[in-house]
Amino acid sequence: MSELAPYAARTQASRGRRFFEPPPEGRSEFQRDRDRIVHSTAFRRLEYKTQVFVNHEGDLFRTRLTHSIEVAQIARSVARNLMLNEDLVESIALAHDLGHTPFGHSGQDALNDCMREYGGFEHNLQSLRVVDLLEQRYGAFDGLNLCFETREGILKHCSQANAKKLGDVGERFLLKKQPSLEAQLANLADEIAYNNHDVDDGLRSGLITLEDLLEVPVFLRHLEEVRREFPDLQDRRLTHETIRRMINTFVTDLTGESRRRIGEYAPDDIEAVRAGPMLISFSDDVKRLQQALQTFLRARLYKHYRVQRMANKAKRIVRELFSAFLEEPQLLPPEYQTRAKLDAPRAIADYVAGMTDRYAIKEYRRIFAVDIS
Ligand code: MG
Repeated sequence: MSELAPYAARTQASRGRRFFEPPPEGRSEFQRDRDRIVHSTAFRRLEYKTQVFVNHEGDLFRTRLTHSIEVAQIARSVARNLMLNEDLVESIALAHDLGHTPFGHSGQDALNDCMREYGGFEHNLQSLRVVDLLEQRYGAFDGLNLCFETREGILKHCSQANAKKLGDVGERFLLKKQPSLEAQLANLADEIAYNNHDVDDGLRSGLITLEDLLEVPVFLRHLEEVRREFPDLQDRRLTHETIRRMINTFVTDLTGESRRRIGEYAPDDIEAVRAGPMLISFSDDVKRLQQALQTFLRARLYKHYRVQRMANKAKRIVRELFSAFLEEPQLLPPEYQTRAKLDAPRAIADYVAGMTDRYAIKEYRRIFAVDIS
């Protein structure tokens, strides 16, 4: 890894793991975190969980797995330019969506509704729950026993009530402090990745068109640039040339603005970062471009009637699975039945949240299909 700035997260200054382990040989603590994440079951499930489109609708749409890899790529590039810890930012990026339910945001909304009286459901908090508790791979502890800094980065937001229950990682929400620069960066790399790939997937699906996108300033600007340079370019290549330039604009702006803010604030170390303002940021101009793009995507893609139909079906599947299990916990697989004896709603939420899109659909059929032959 390249040289670290004084304000970067360092292994030596880590607040450590929940259960003591001797330092790894031949790799850093944050590399070990990344390796544990890549080998986890929850990570493999990301392949069959979706963002906007349901997994079986097309082989080329993003899944949470390819999304997480794109976030890691963007975050690492910026981290290297700002002399931040690439290993840490990669761990956070690869783990940030581990707690996602099947069927993207509609799945999460439905599960949150089901859990309203039982402490709620929040995918961010669930990602932490996966790495702290739900993964069962090690003899000495539940979860992956990751470093504080990785866990801090996974927990992007959190209510005050939940923060109080979380111990060390919850503290910053109560004290109104910032996380590491690596955590701040992974968060914005996530935004760059999904805004741009949703444009790509939206076009691929035919739900939005190139003409629709002319009303989005950041798209129009780069499309015109590509057309000037390659007047005959058509279709996919035209789209890709435009989107890659958009990503580049966002990444370059994020790097420049963050460098400027870090220079101005000049934090001596990670503790100064935690006590200061947010330092990883887009410039105001690019923030406006980004907001216009998000507004467009919300109105034209996420609220598109065909996406809404899928979302509606997804919500019904999640809701009905949840109520069937709550009514009759004997329908759960044995390990979840044991946990349901202590706290049935939470055990069911963990089970449902862990499902991939296709597993949820299969499970729905297995439980509700009238064919009893
Ligand atoms: Mg994400």
